[in-house]
Amino acid sequence: MSKVSIPSLPPFSSLRISVCSLALSIKRLPFLRISLRTSSCITELWHPTLLVIPAWGPRESLSLPWNPFGMGRAVLRNCRRFLPSLGQPSGSRWLMLESSIFLATPSHTMIRCWTPQPCLVLFPLGMDGMVERLALIYTSPWPRGNASLPAMEMTKWFDTNYHYIVPELGPDVNFSYASHKAVDEYKEAKALGIDTIPVLVGPFSYLLLSKPAKGIEKSFSLLSLIGKILPIYREVVTELKAAGASWIQFDEPTLVKDLDAHQLQAFTYAYTELESSLSGLNVLIETYFADVPADTYKTLVSLKGVTGYGFDLVRGTKTLDLIKGVFPPGKILFAGVVDGRNIWANNLASSLSTLQALEGIVGKDKLVVSTSSSLLHTAVDLVNETKLDNEIKSWLAFAAQKIVEVNALAKALSGHKDEAFFSANAAAQSSRKSSPRVTNDAVQKAATALKGSAHRRATNVSARLDAQQKKLNLPILPTTTIGSFPQTADLRRVRREFKANKISEEEYVKAIKEEINKVVQLQEELDIDVLVHGEPEVRGMTWLKYFGEQLSGFAFTVNGWVQSYGSRCVKPPIIYGDVSRPKPMTVFWSSIAQSLTKRPMKGMLTGPVTILNWSFVRDDQPRFETCYQIALAIKDEVEDLEKAGISVIQIDEAALREGLPLRKSEEAFYLNWAVHSFRITNSGVQDTTQIHTHMCYSNFNDIIHSIIDMDADVITIENSRSDEKLLSVFREGVKYGAGIGPGVYDIHSPRIPPTEEIADRINKMLAVLESNILWVNPDCGLKTRKYTEVKPALTNVVAAAKLIRSQLGSAK
Ligand SMILES: [Zn+2]
Repeated sequence: MSKVSIPSLPPFSSLRISVCSLALSIKRLPFLRISLRTSSCITELWHPTLLVIPAWGPRESLSLPWNPFGMGRAVLRNCRRFLPSLGQPSGSRWLMLESSIFLATPSHTMIRCWTPQPCLVLFPLGMDGMVERLALIYTSPWPRGNASLPAMEMTKWFDTNYHYIVPELGPDVNFSYASHKAVDEYKEAKALGIDTIPVLVGPFSYLLLSKPAKGIEKSFSLLSLIGKILPIYREVVTELKAAGASWIQFDEPTLVKDLDAHQLQAFTYAYTELESSLSGLNVLIETYFADVPADTYKTLVSLKGVTGYGFDLVRGTKTLDLIKGVFPPGKILFAGVVDGRNIWANNLASSLSTLQALEGIVGKDKLVVSTSSSLLHTAVDLVNETKLDNEIKSWLAFAAQKIVEVNALAKALSGHKDEAFFSANAAAQSSRKSSPRVTNDAVQKAATALKGSAHRRATNVSARLDAQQKKLNLPILPTTTIGSFPQTADLRRVRREFKANKISEEEYVKAIKEEINKVVQLQEELDIDVLVHGEPEVRGMTWLKYFGEQLSGFAFTVNGWVQSYGSRCVKPPIIYGDVSRPKPMTVFWSSIAQSLTKRPMKGMLTGPVTILNWSFVRDDQPRFETCYQIALAIKDEVEDLEKAGISVIQIDEAALREGLPLRKSEEAFYLNWAVHSFRITNSGVQDTTQIHTHMCYSNFNDIIHSIIDMDADVITIENSRSDEKLLSVFREGVKYGAGIGPGVYDIHSPRIPPTEEIADRINKMLAVLESNILWVNPDCGLKTRKYTEVKPALTNVVAAAKLIRSQLGSAK
């Protein structure tokens, strides 16, 4: 195998500093500062700035997702220990970046500058209970509420896996300037000799990413607060100017979404109102994650007082056409040509030619090379990857490598092309194109053969349910659980010893089998109708990893962490080639589990859409093609499970919704192939095989018809935290004929729901759903709970189901 040299920055020796200072600044200080204002409260937007270097990944500090929320003060103390090194030039990441980019930058090409950390905007509000609710967030590993204080909603930052806490606003809100973090960090960097561009979430996006607080009319216009929020922005701007800032960046990613004329007017109003405060500063307005619609583009580029615009030209190829059509003379274009959302090496030759074309339009000194979005959504540094082979590594670029790519493109644009670097890149591109590891003819053929069929099961769902009932003979309101059971110390030990080669495979299998047997016996004692095996063989990793490691076309990183929320990180698999399933993945354990009971045992699989949406997906073919390939692999598994005597198979699609495109016009296309992919997985089974699917959310009123179109026999859904939301869709008359199990208790809480409460929930469901399709189950898997919680809770679940069954029986 040929040697590859990974383009690399100097070692990230100080990465921990940013992890810790991020933890410090987000978790504690702002809150402590604010909490002195007892009558006011805060809201915040955790937001990734453009070109933020992800703070996660150094080997030594992150072998596991790490969570300072749960660890409290101990971690804060540790963090402080690292802070002093920030002032040492050699230990400073800012300086390291500065030297790698700026010193190598020719004078006529600008390179994006950045604030090194996500910018936090904090505003005290006049909403009751918000201080206390935020305190809950800062002191617990999950933004959970308690009996008197509901949790604040955490939601995904656009279509990324990064989360922010949604500000809750109402007409009486009063904003004030609470956190001076943007200014403090500007000064901190400046003291090190670096003039950064401070980044703020723009006022327009801030408001549209918020939501009306509880009790506030849904029709309340968040943008009606624009006049109230602008004075705060003026204060920040004034302070930044006084500190010596010459640039300011406003992130307005909401501009890539569907906006009406009224909203665009509010946008123009905001920046027109800010114009005088901004004078003397270079102003950059940044968008990302998709193309900018034509009307929005027109509004955006006609703003006065703006120096430059930033666009995502990887996901926004239509924006490229708009720029080619018209770009305001004299303005600077920040061209996002290096993908900030993926881990693939850039095609430098192609990017360079795009940039050269753009230079012809905007002018030679008006073009800035940039990543398409913040690098917060990609892994940190390929240098940390010890297990990936050189061939695959040569196809990849993590954040550190992407910075080098941006730099190389800027240099090339100014006539200082690094020929060796470009030809190594071209060689890697062509090796990726021609590698037999990427292309599998059999898979390509099978995927092509899919076209032309919608893959619908031949019999309709009610006839299938009848056939399944004959075979399974379940009571009405059958009970089941979602999949996982609690983790025990014994189990952890067994896995640890097996990993360390301290016990043989035989001993490991025996131990796991014993664990499954325990879980089976418990469920039989509890009198649950459809059993699960508890997933002991998966615990310690995710299903995604479990499957990915058994599918070809997948690779796994050792340190490719990506921030999900707070300090919680995920390590997405990399799908680099055609996907196939060399051999059965779950049949062994499912068969063992089924052999231990006469009751139906659910086979457990993750659906193709979820595997796709939680991975770094190859960029050399459309996403739907990759999804179809995964669907075919899962189909093989489903059919092998059926052959092995498993009559109930659950195919989870937890992430179906989060793959939704940012714009309405693209939703139908996505939902069509996503739902089709799910149907492919079980299109080959007999009527008597019952297909379940599970979703961890209930917010799907708008896509209910796609959910129905998945044509699963039974769907189990998160519900207990949002009763009304889920059931309302059925109240509104949506016809649903398949089995459905809206969760009857919230497994995220240690609270044990009394039987009467569960019975009450079931009755609420029966008001809108037929008794012959209703299932009784918890909201989600039980792996985060203890047996001391799970046993009494499930006892009550079964008791409630039996109570309602007998009531229904006597009512007849
Ligand atoms: Zn779930």
